[in-house]
Amino acid sequence: MNVIPSFNLTEQYKLISEEISEVSLEILTSGQYIGGDTVKQFEQQFAGYIGSDHCVACNSGTDALFLALRSLGIGAGDEVITTPFTFVSTAEVICALGAVPVFVDIEPQTFNLDLSQVEAALTKRTKAIIPVHLFGNPVNMTPLMTLAQAHRLWVIEDCAQATGAKWDGQPVGSIGHLGCFSFYPTKNLGACGDGGAITTNDVALADRLRMLRDHGQRQRYVYEEIGVNSRLDALQAGILQVKLRYLETWNQQRQTIAHQYQQWLSPLPGIILPQEIEGGESVWNQYTVRVLTPEGAENQRDRVKQQLQKHGVGSTIYYPIPLHLQPIYATLGYQAGQLPIAEQVAQEVLSLPMFPELTIEQQQQVVYALKESMVKT
Ligand SMILES: *Cc1c(COP(=O)(O)O)cnc(C)c1O
Repeated sequence: MNVIPSFNLTEQYKLISEEISEVSLEILTSGQYIGGDTVKQFEQQFAGYIGSDHCVACNSGTDALFLALRSLGIGAGDEVITTPFTFVSTAEVICALGAVPVFVDIEPQTFNLDLSQVEAALTKRTKAIIPVHLFGNPVNMTPLMTLAQAHRLWVIEDCAQATGAKWDGQPVGSIGHLGCFSFYPTKNLGACGDGGAITTNDVALADRLRMLRDHGQRQRYVYEEIGVNSRLDALQAGILQVKLRYLETWNQQRQTIAHQYQQWLSPLPGIILPQEIEGGESVWNQYTVRVLTPEGAENQRDRVKQQLQKHGVGSTIYYPIPLHLQPIYATLGYQAGQLPIAEQVAQEVLSLPMFPELTIEQQQQVVYALKESMVKT
């Protein structure tokens, strides 16, 4: 039996291994391992790709979010609005700075922040909103920016899963005040290690971010603020330069795969397919369906996941527990039932194999396995 994984990094590596070897050898020979021209070039290329004036590279997507909040001076006593249905980093960095994450429920169709509920969550202490373009699907940024402007809030886009996604023709990460990206290997633009970046049109913020990521120094050995060590190394920057040239093609391949899933799986009773919203262009970091469970029955998602496994098809649950119900956030005082949509979809979501190199035959096998799994109720 052919096993189909949820993602596959080695297939992509094989396609570009020569270019990766070449650039890696060049950098290894150069002796310039941290900072230098390779990193600067990548920052320029990435800023150009996103359509922002500045890009500040750093060590991870988590650090990008952390540094973004730091650059805005967000800290103790401040509140930051975000979604409970995301990777832990989004909220973790808020807490790391002594600020408080305020979770607002999501829309069941997009898994993204429900903007109609944001206003009710605002207080005098609210300083920023972190919308997450989850699974590569952009948040409806037009009303979000209007709302943020009306209340003088900063907008930090969490673009970790959405490099290249567009809202109203504009790449995400160029719409809010700051855009945060992750180059973790499974992201659409993935390094061969950790990496991240922040994009902005604000020269003062970019300058502050550069200082903060390098121990709070502008001038060597003069420390103006408590900073961190969060640099992107030259090897990763070189590899990312190579991969950035392929990103549009890879994102298009993901789109084709998503549309094929859409065609083959629709209609399939008991399953709700992911949706792009009008004006949004997803880059499909994940293809995440909802498997519905009839009232009182055992969880069908968990059962289908097991069945898929028996057919040799990998699938993943992003995310099984929404953040407001995580043990670390118990002190925030959220109760089960308080953010019902996030809690419900956490029981239903299942991400199917999605990576640019997934072949049509493999996809047929996934769809066959899913249909078989659904029948055996
Ligand atoms: C991956 C991810 C991050 C964190 O990025 P790292 O590079 O792993 O630190 C943050 N937010 C979201 C939504 C992510 O998917």
